[in-house]
Amino acid sequence: MKYNRILLKLSGEALMGQQQYGIDAVRLMQYAEEIKTAAATGTQVAVVIGGGNIFRGVQAEAFGLDRVQGDYMGMLATVINSMALQSALEKLNVNTRLLSGVTIQRVCEPYIRRRALRHLEKGRVVIFGAGIGSPYFTTDSAASLRAIEIEADVVLKGTRVDGIYTADPEKDPTATRYPEITFDEVMEKNLNVMDMTAFTLCKENNLPIIVFDMNKAGNLQRLIEGETVGTRVSMHGSNAKPLDAKHSALQPTITTPTE
Ligand code: UDP
Repeated sequence: MKYNRILLKLSGEALMGQQQYGIDAVRLMQYAEEIKTAAATGTQVAVVIGGGNIFRGVQAEAFGLDRVQGDYMGMLATVINSMALQSALEKLNVNTRLLSGVTIQRVCEPYIRRRALRHLEKGRVVIFGAGIGSPYFTTDSAASLRAIEIEADVVLKGTRVDGIYTADPEKDPTATRYPEITFDEVMEKNLNVMDMTAFTLCKENNLPIIVFDMNKAGNLQRLIEGETVGTRVSMHGSNAKPLDAKHSALQPTITTPTE
């Protein structure tokens, strides 16, 4: 396998499926199956899930609530999603542990780095809930930070788009996908990969990010096996040009730098 240890970031919104709110049972099981297959390869798998399908701190003002309170509500939303994923994985007989950045001792372990590493070494899928446990951050930042702490080889950002495009492919039909790009190019071109805190953490710690379509069955495993899927953001890149066609099925040969 290409990676010894990965950190998979899933957005809360992705869990909604076609719904407007909450968790779609079919989508949840689909993700659990993909994670089970990935873990069965022997690659150690850690997961961070967002909470946008339930609550985001920025919504707090609209409710007339305090922002910090709203952020804690968002963190608790990520714990709900994490518990759902844990349960779905356990249904598939995958050993998991849920470690939370906010202590909720009846339902999950507190986040302790050494404990997370031990679980991973034992082959358990580790889910990090409640982000980093502090307001004014996102789960993308939690994904970057936890990935650095556990010395993951890569952050795999599973989205509903198959990579990073020159423009938003859902709005601009002429948008083209980059198979590979450097951290510096992402910043120069002002492309939207992660929020700046999360992105900077990865850049400064030379941690590659791969943005890929999590809804396409088998993509996660293909990535772990070393196939070129989605867009890889790294320190060096390969000066690859964007592909021609929108959502192109073509997978160009790319020289992947060794990190
Ligand atoms: N959040 C936070 N600190 C963290 C992680 C998350 O305050 O370390 C809050 C924040 O309000 C955020 C919400 O939890 O909006 C849900 O996370 P996020 O928006 O990242 O979820 P996603 O967009 O991935 O579904």
